[in-house]
Amino acid sequence: MDDNDPDQPKICIYPGCERPAVPPHPMGGPQPAFCDLEDHNALSAHLERKRLAAAASNEEGNDGR
Ligand SMILES: [Zn+2]
Repeated sequence: MDDNDPDQPKICIYPGCERPAVPPHPMGGPQPAFCDLEDHNALSAHLERKRLAAAASNEEGNDGR
């Protein structure tokens, strides 16, 4: 896996999202890490990761393993 390959389209880092990230602004600046969905931004991704982590730890607790 090589995340630094410039030939590979950047993928939205929102958990579970596999949409391509929006292209960099033509005037410059770093490419956004998220796709064009308004729901997908740093805050919502952070909350979703917390939610997934909480769900995962809940499953572990209920599973008893
Ligand atoms: Zn996304």
